[in-house]
Amino acid sequence: MAGEDFLHAVQAFVAEKWQPHHPCDRCGTFQWSILPGYAAVLSLHAITPPAMDYGQSSPGYEVEFIPIYCNNCGNTINIYIGVFMEWWTKRETT
Ligand SMILES: [Zn+2]
Repeated sequence: MAGEDFLHAVQAFVAEKWQPHHPCDRCGTFQWSILPGYAAVLSLHAITPPAMDYGQSSPGYEVEFIPIYCNNCGNTINIYIGVFMEWWTKRETT
């Protein structure tokens, strides 16, 4: 998916799946927005905490989320990208 297509897909995801159905859990408005520009995904490095690692080396892996923030109060939720991709795949095939 090219950058611009991805951005449009994320906008559609927020508009169809979030905007009308989910009020902000802090302020109750429906003003969800995505990050400005093309950087719509937050990448985090998932690891096993060293104290629980029992000597095994766990390099971890990258996990991506789509941050959606409330335009009114700044409350931010992170949507796991796997859920978005599943939604997008279903939408493309129907
Ligand atoms: Zn809010």
